[in-house]
Amino acid sequence: MVSPSSQSLSRLSKIGWIGLGAMGRPMALNLFTKTHLAHQRGEWAGYGKEKPSFLICEEDDSRAESFLFDLREKGGAGLVNRVERVGSGKEMAMHASRILTMLPSTPQVEAVYLDPKGGILAGLQALPLDTPSLGDLPASTSPVKPVSGVEELSSSTNMSAPYMPPTSSPPLDSPTSFAPASSDPNPSSGADAPHTLLIDQTTLDPTTARDIASQIHATTSHRALMLDAPVSGGTGAAERGELTIMFGSPSSEATRMAVELLGRMARDGGVIDCGSNGAGVGVKVCNNLILAINQIALSEGLALGRSLGLDPVLLHNVVNTSSGQSWSSRVNSPLEEIPGSPGSRHYAGGFQTRLMLKDAGLALSAAAVCNLPIPMTWAAKSVYEAVCNEGEGEMATRDFSVVFEWLKKKQAEGVERGWKADPTST
Ligand code: NAD
Repeated sequence: MVSPSSQSLSRLSKIGWIGLGAMGRPMALNLFTKTHLAHQRGEWAGYGKEKPSFLICEEDDSRAESFLFDLREKGGAGLVNRVERVGSGKEMAMHASRILTMLPSTPQVEAVYLDPKGGILAGLQALPLDTPSLGDLPASTSPVKPVSGVEELSSSTNMSAPYMPPTSSPPLDSPTSFAPASSDPNPSSGADAPHTLLIDQTTLDPTTARDIASQIHATTSHRALMLDAPVSGGTGAAERGELTIMFGSPSSEATRMAVELLGRMARDGGVIDCGSNGAGVGVKVCNNLILAINQIALSEGLALGRSLGLDPVLLHNVVNTSSGQSWSSRVNSPLEEIPGSPGSRHYAGGFQTRLMLKDAGLALSAAAVCNLPIPMTWAAKSVYEAVCNEGEGEMATRDFSVVFEWLKKKQAEGVERGWKADPTST
């Protein structure tokens, strides 16, 4: 038997990241620096004594360069010298055994994973048969344990993860059902054992997420294992390494390998097992549907309060101790009078309206697959669409609580039109 080449052995010590945008940049900074530190402390499960090394793939040159600059600041030259840039998912899959992706949405994830010329799957198909398996690595010493999403999350759960999955699952033959993650009878090693771990952290269409994972698993005979692991918490939590990460996994083996990496980007107890492939992103899309509606409801209540001459801070305080409260009212108020709120910083930073528009669209498409009417989401999507199209589109990149400003403007225009209307011409 021919031994695996040194190139394929060093693939075991390489971690790759694709998509270094607003979220991917700080997440990869944390993952790379903490993995580098874990190796220095003797806790990194790389191959032999080899140091971990890293690959990046980002189509925007300036983002790739600024990532390397920031990595040098955070982790020093010794770390940056262990990073190389590649040009495609295919190249990444040929050289790295663990790959994470953080891309805008469904079309980019489909392209990066499945493009027949440059996609990750094409790279996996080009690997030699004797590619060493991840089972050849020493057992992880990671202290991170995933939280099971089917148990009630503790009351200390961060407000960025207002999530509780259903206690009863939909029928398994439903086109949109997500089965519980299987526990593998034989966590494997040897020729059939998994050689690649893929973790997509994008918020995308849940059915597509599940279909891409199925295609990867079927084509590679489960030698590549894929999870969906979208995040909640925004760029601030990503910088601090305090994200909530909800994942869907094909097996307990994939889960075990993934949580070590995910824990380097998440808060304590923030890595949540939601079930099988597609379930992580399913939970994320349902959560954001609720958030999209809540933020508009808050804006309508606050705008009416202002027109009634109520003190906005008093209204804010009463709502937050009453039944109208939500994450939006507590943490994401549009009121400039509330210190630290998006309103107080002119809606800079935060979660962009264009992303909320995208997520409302994902919820609508998912509901269409289930033949389920969701009228409030439909209305919310129309509102965010109008906010993004307002003026020169300047509100599209502001925090989505800017919907309050849009609403006040439209209400003023409506009232004005009402005043100007000829009362005799009904
Ligand atoms: P972004 O647009 O800032 O970043 C995406 C990056 O992917 C860009 O740098 C882009 O150049 C790169 N990219 C696209 N196609 C590529 C390809 N083929 N190869 C290599 N690079 C490619 O988006 P973001 O704000 O980082 O969001 C990423 C995901 O996270 C989205 O799904 C979003 O909904 C979700 N999310 C965002 C936030 C937030 O606050 N921004 C919070 C939670 C979740």
